[in-house]
Amino acid sequence: MQELAYFNGRFCDPAEATISINDRGFQYADSVYEVVVAFGAQPFCLAEHLARLQRSLELIDLDITPHNINFEAIVREGIERAGFDRTMIYIQVTRGVQPRAHVYADDLVPTVIATFRPKPVIDPAMRANGVSVVTVDDTRRAHCEAKATSLLPNILAIKKAKREGFHDAVFVSPSGQVREATSSNIFAVCGPALLTPARSSSILHGITRKYILQCAKRIEVPLDQSPLTVSKLESADEVFLSSSVLDILPVTRVNDKTIADGKPGPLTTRLHKCFLEGLPV
Ligand code: PLP
Repeated sequence: MQELAYFNGRFCDPAEATISINDRGFQYADSVYEVVVAFGAQPFCLAEHLARLQRSLELIDLDITPHNINFEAIVREGIERAGFDRTMIYIQVTRGVQPRAHVYADDLVPTVIATFRPKPVIDPAMRANGVSVVTVDDTRRAHCEAKATSLLPNILAIKKAKREGFHDAVFVSPSGQVREATSSNIFAVCGPALLTPARSSSILHGITRKYILQCAKRIEVPLDQSPLTVSKLESADEVFLSSSVLDILPVTRVNDKTIADGKPGPLTTRLHKCFLEGLPV
């Protein structure tokens, strides 16, 4: 009996199973998983777990059919090789290895791992006495102000945008307020004023965004603090994205609307000039 791993086609000691730093599961949480338990040689509800795994793969647009992965065979062989009375099987499929880029390639080879460990024993005292729980706000998928690596929604959004012929996607709240793009903040120019979504837990507090606001102050551009709605964005005189990599990137189309005359606007150009003047070289 020993803890066992499965890693891309072979069984091995878990210590030998190491993934690339370019694995998208590590870089972006671009992966899905399942946990199955087995009693003796019998995995419990395996068909249901594998159906849910398939559904999870579909939900993240990960088509593994070309790779002929037989999860049932992996699970059954692993249980037998590990030899525990009760086994906890962890399965994870990542989109594969690619130098870090939000937009994933279509021809990646998925990383498939599994581990086979003894099923944890639940303390009988806990079963006898019960346990306590505390209620908390459901902040799962919140805290966008944290530069967290769990970027699955972002990478799915930009991939969909690319497929539909756009450069990037912009997240909008359920009430129609514009938030930010998949890896940049967004600004609009409406009349004389500059608008950008206020700092909140729904956007990353971009360093570039802050710097641009300082540039705007320096060149005396008024700020409009009102919420940026989709219709305001579509009818803006100018729109641009900001990030450390992009600095300022003009946007000339939002959905099916061309922004002004379809060319980068004068305030965007002025702000970019101010931005570039402040660079160290
Ligand atoms: N918003 C998101 C979601 C980002 O990922 C990024 C940068 O990666 C930004 C905004 C811009 O941040 P910064 O200007 O600090 O690069």
